[in-house]
Amino acid sequence: MDSKRPSSRSGKGRSNNKPNRSGGNRRPSGGGGQRDRRGSGGGRSNHNYIPLPADMMVHEGVSLKTVEYRAETKFVDWPVNAKLKSAIKAAGWVYPTEIQEKSFEHIAALKDVMGIATTGTGKTGAFLIPLIDALLESEQPFQTLVLAPTRELALQIEDEFRALTIGMKYNAITLIGGRNINTDIVNLKKRSYHLVVATPGRLKDLYQQGKIDLQEASVLVLDEFDRMLDMGFQKDVMFLTDKMGDRDQTMLFSATLDKSQQKLIDHFLTDYVTIKVSSGEASAEHINQTVKFVEPDNKFDALIELLQQPEMKRVLVFAETKHRVKKVTKKLNQAGISADEIHGNKSQNYRQKALNAFKAGKITALCATDVAARGLDIDDITHVVNFEAPTDYDTYIHRVGRTGRAGKGGEAITFYDK
Ligand code: AMP
Repeated sequence: MDSKRPSSRSGKGRSNNKPNRSGGNRRPSGGGGQRDRRGSGGGRSNHNYIPLPADMMVHEGVSLKTVEYRAETKFVDWPVNAKLKSAIKAAGWVYPTEIQEKSFEHIAALKDVMGIATTGTGKTGAFLIPLIDALLESEQPFQTLVLAPTRELALQIEDEFRALTIGMKYNAITLIGGRNINTDIVNLKKRSYHLVVATPGRLKDLYQQGKIDLQEASVLVLDEFDRMLDMGFQKDVMFLTDKMGDRDQTMLFSATLDKSQQKLIDHFLTDYVTIKVSSGEASAEHINQTVKFVEPDNKFDALIELLQQPEMKRVLVFAETKHRVKKVTKKLNQAGISADEIHGNKSQNYRQKALNAFKAGKITALCATDVAARGLDIDDITHVVNFEAPTDYDTYIHRVGRTGRAGKGGEAITFYDK
């Protein structure tokens, strides 16, 4: 691989607002256009609930082997600092993923980049590896700000940065809601940081209190951009990035690419390279998807019976509301199936503990709302169960995509009112 790595990243002065005509424009399938009026959602108080048509949630998973990426290089041969190579090796990574291989030379050359890649493709490593290499090679330290839509994703990015900088002396901080803001304030005063990972709400709060200087960061990463927009963070992201001043580089990662986002993308990126490793249309091709028709009054029993099957080892259960998630969790525990819950009414601390227990295999089921489960990257989720069908296809795909990570197959089962 041939890479032009600049020795310094201090070349400020680039405008971030120039319109730009490059970049793809495919619409996500969305799929939810046609709605089926069948099924009122049994016992729901929300009369506006219109589930996705059942036939959209049935699919026989195809082996991902056919679409597996064959890397042309090995990390040991990459033109990066030896310390970084050791850290990559220690992380157990031998071959780069497609996004890593295709984006490296552009990111290393300080190009703005739009990566069309879902979580699970190695996109975090794709931006961290060239940034860490630049830190190691650069005469002056620089700061990267990563904005992520969810707390969980932000923590995962920090974890990966720590793994890839093992044995190096770089500082990272994660600023997310649900944790004591005074601790953030104390930590921000303590030292300067090479990496700041934040969710938009908490970062805005800290900025407005005058506790963080956003001009310090010269590189910006917008991760899971489409989710960020879905979750209503557009205004906060605009506010924060406007306070940053000129940047050396901006990278934007999104699982899907919608025409309607183009103007916004042009606002953030300048003369950028698009690297597309996902279709840009959300998909769950490799996951077996089935629908189970259940009497509304019988749903809890059906769920318990399902989760008692021996193959249901690590199951993510989605429900539409916090209240329903709570109820499902309670019913499962009463039936002797260990379960915990993550949703907006639970503190960050609680959610993190539940997540850790789930990852460690201490509980069988993790019950979640869509918002709480965004960006979750947990290996070996055997099944995703939709206690209720979602109302739109993007949400459905996002739920289902929590299983079948890293090229493995997975199972998704959706309950549908009889
Ligand atoms: P991401 O899409 O960045 O969330 O990464 C998905 C998962 O793949 C994470 O658990 C990473 O640690 C892991 N990963 C990323 N890159 C590689 C690689 N080149 N080889 C093996 N595992 C990787």
